[in-house]
Amino acid sequence: MSVYELMRPNIQRLEPYKCARDEAGPDMDVYLDANENYAPVAGEEGINRYPDSAAARLRAAAEQVLGIPASLCTVGNGSDELIDILIRIFCIPGRDSILVMPPTYGEYSVLASVNDVAVIKCPLTREGAISQDAYDLVRKERPKLSFICSPNNPTGLICGKEDILAFAKENPGITVVDQAYIDFAPAGAITADDVRDNERLVVLRTMSKAWALAGARVGFMMSCEEIRAKAYDVKYPYNVGLPAMEAALQALASAEAVRARTCEIIRLREWMRQRIAAIPAVIEVLPSDANFFLVRFEDPGAVYRALKDKGIVVRDRSRELYCQGCLRISVGSQEEDERLVRALEEILA
Ligand code: PMP
Repeated sequence: MSVYELMRPNIQRLEPYKCARDEAGPDMDVYLDANENYAPVAGEEGINRYPDSAAARLRAAAEQVLGIPASLCTVGNGSDELIDILIRIFCIPGRDSILVMPPTYGEYSVLASVNDVAVIKCPLTREGAISQDAYDLVRKERPKLSFICSPNNPTGLICGKEDILAFAKENPGITVVDQAYIDFAPAGAITADDVRDNERLVVLRTMSKAWALAGARVGFMMSCEEIRAKAYDVKYPYNVGLPAMEAALQALASAEAVRARTCEIIRLREWMRQRIAAIPAVIEVLPSDANFFLVRFEDPGAVYRALKDKGIVVRDRSRELYCQGCLRISVGSQEEDERLVRALEEILA
């Protein structure tokens, strides 16, 4: 089946909204086409105008800095929006399914449910690899989308790139590789050439983690041109606001500082892991390729509550597969990390 045939029939036939400005181009003198206000009353220069629906400047910067070719790139209101757009392009409500590989990011299932799309679960192996069962499932059940998160949330483990590419080749549906945390383990990155080699392979990236822009809401999708064109038609015409795009452009122009911060976060992560592993009552500190890691406790609920009493919030993941007893801890500033370590030492003394 071609990518086009995998799309919902109503989306194949979709007559998209067209902005007059897209047709006229960006270099006209007078724009009286979009019922805007002629000048800002408050806020920054240009905020009275709708933003560029194609995010051309941002896609050009993402090509330069992230290696996502503009012709394969869709910008989303966070990568969460791109997950939703993919489900809406491919999955017929009440009929189609997606495949997820627990333990993994919960939003794939939530967004599938919102769209009345079934969720098939096929656990990863304990080491974080794709299970052989997933190969059988995609052939038998034909989920339209299969989500692989690498590095994975909540485990922090990377899934081997060769494994992902081999699965995507065998999978008759679309394989979506969520690389939200890939800046912390760049060797595992799926590249534009990989996407060019397989039109059913889609990659998601975000500015929310290493790029320090969770508040701005900017994510990127790298896909074949056919999916990119359809995502452009399905998304809200002005899905990413001007301040968010400006913030993302500034961050991409500061790539060196971002990379230095990323190295610092990895250093802090390993410092925290060592200090926490030295606490006798801690069962295990798991390895991680991301900016968080799992710690296994005898009574994670009690540790969670005791940390909260000290004003520190972590994430209880103890009910997730393979994560029994585990709290997920994000790496913060050195001061925050020291406070967390001291608090654990006191709680578990
Ligand atoms: N994917 C993963 C694996 C995540 O952990 C998150 C956020 N926690 C997202 C996607 C969503 O990121 P965004 O802020 O770009 O919507």
